[in-house]
Amino acid sequence: VPQENIRNFSIIAHIDHGKSTLADRIIQECGAVSDRQMSAQVMDTMDIEKERGITIKAQSVRLDYIKDGEHYILNLIDTPGHVDFSYEVSRSLASCEGALLIVDAAQGVEAQTIANVYIAIENDLELLPVVNKIDLPAADPDRVLSELEEAIGIDATEHALVSAKTGQGVPELIDMIVERIPAPKGDINAPTKALIYDSWFDNYLGALALVRVFEGKIEKGQKIKIMGTKEEHQVLDLMYPNPIKPVKTNEISTGEVGLVVTGLKTVEALQVGDTITDAKNPTAEAIGGFEPAKPFVFAGIYPIETDKFEDLRDALNKLKLNDSSLSFEPESSMALGSGFRTGFLGMLHMEVIKERLEREFNLELIATAPTVVYKVKKTDGEEIEIQNPSELPEPQKIDTIYEPYVKATILTPQEYVGNLIKLLNDRRGIQIKMDYLNETRVLMEYDIPMNEIVMDFYDKLKSTTKGYASFDYEPIGFRPGNLVKLDIRVAGEVVDSLSIIVPEDKARTRGLAFVGQLKELIPRQLFEVAIQASIGNNVIARSNVKSMGKNVTAKCYGGDITRKRKLLEKQKAGKKRMKAIGKVQVPQEAFMAVLKLD
Ligand code: GDP
Ligand code: MG
Repeated sequence: VPQENIRNFSIIAHIDHGKSTLADRIIQECGAVSDRQMSAQVMDTMDIEKERGITIKAQSVRLDYIKDGEHYILNLIDTPGHVDFSYEVSRSLASCEGALLIVDAAQGVEAQTIANVYIAIENDLELLPVVNKIDLPAADPDRVLSELEEAIGIDATEHALVSAKTGQGVPELIDMIVERIPAPKGDINAPTKALIYDSWFDNYLGALALVRVFEGKIEKGQKIKIMGTKEEHQVLDLMYPNPIKPVKTNEISTGEVGLVVTGLKTVEALQVGDTITDAKNPTAEAIGGFEPAKPFVFAGIYPIETDKFEDLRDALNKLKLNDSSLSFEPESSMALGSGFRTGFLGMLHMEVIKERLEREFNLELIATAPTVVYKVKKTDGEEIEIQNPSELPEPQKIDTIYEPYVKATILTPQEYVGNLIKLLNDRRGIQIKMDYLNETRVLMEYDIPMNEIVMDFYDKLKSTTKGYASFDYEPIGFRPGNLVKLDIRVAGEVVDSLSIIVPEDKARTRGLAFVGQLKELIPRQLFEVAIQASIGNNVIARSNVKSMGKNVTAKCYGGDITRKRKLLEKQKAGKKRMKAIGKVQVPQEAFMAVLKLD
């Protein structure tokens, strides 16, 4: 197929607007998958992805399409559906010439629609507005189209109206893709230049890179060089992507996408955003915008049973084979023993990793509250990065603490604007923009410390707006903050894994709230337990957990032995999720309590 008959495109959508359903429908329409194989949603593969209905790893599929006797190749390039993976979204979009901008005909434009469109515009993509779910009684395509023009300022005169559910409008949409999305440019005779936009580990094939070739071609047997890491490897095999059955090929040429099989044992050398070129005849310049995966959120992960530390290390190493953005280092906590300080791209990434460690490796874990990365300029001029609040230097050694900020995009029905402004002010947000999309819906943009988003922001946003607001964010760099470390003492001892970094003017309220929560969470012990919050040696809040006094089984009298046994079993089960801090049993929930302090 000649280069001018190739179309590379992605689908951009807010969650639940129908991206996966439409992708499946397009795949089916092109006849790449039989109806029987079309078990719901070919494009989402991992179990956790299916359960949560989100896409974490991008999938792609190469489709054949015949129009007026002309053979076209349509490469549908999937993008991860969550903000944690925004860099990977940007690399997937950089591999395309166009994108379908899907909006739910009943819901209208949402925050993720806008955030993704910004990335698409940065990558000069041709955007095709697609209004989906026109079969719904509440569908209002005209309103949606005017929102697109208002919110994003794109021209929506030419658009598609489809139902991914019934298939209505989908053949016309495919024609539109062929007509409107430009063919890939690039010189097939130039040295190899390809962008890695996804990579993963396959048990049979080893590390795989999913690439878009921009110049020249990649051939089977070729010695390639990965420009960021400067490593050289041989191409063992090449395949065109297909979620059910990849098709082998001997070369992938300019404008095409494909899977490169290297036989490597980990994906570390095949980082998303890196450029592949020819080892002997390299291209002059790598494709711009490469950033090695950088964790934004850190948490301590500890096995509940201390002898499981090595098992946890093995499990993390196994997950790392397939996820170069996961980072971990051994750490020991006085309270929790030996574990790992683990770095994640964001909150969802963290949840997914923790869940996989527990599910796939059978580990019982305690995770400390997540924290963002802080940069600290010390009075002696040294600059350090803090991934754990307990590492913060003494106050007199600190010149400035810098904290990461994000740009938050929020879309809300107008009746919640007042409450949202209050919430955002409370979270130290700075208003950048507030636009009415129409009489009923408002677009708000705020710069806000990422720390405030890690702290239970999403749930708060949902409850403030009865679930009607949508939210997305993008990191925008570090800014100075007036911050202090708040320590928690249990029975007089500082519990290092409970320390948090908070804005100075909120230290007292947060300290009171934290102590109050811990009082509820820590069960009564045989003795009274004092719980205090302090800044340095200055105690700012305190509370006591009263002693339990009597044995809990005492009131079961003699007779009812089964009831007694049940109670003991229940106690034992409860204990499993506890961690002993000194003599005090502290439940897992206590370590996350800090996330709900207002
Ligand atoms: P994604 O999160 O963007 O991938 O959205 P999905 O494809 O998973 O779709 C979300 C929900 O909307 C699912 O329950 C789909 O069955 C439903 N859906 C998708 N497209 C349509 C459509 O055209 N009409 C109707 N009525 N429902 C749809
Ligand atoms: Mg989906």
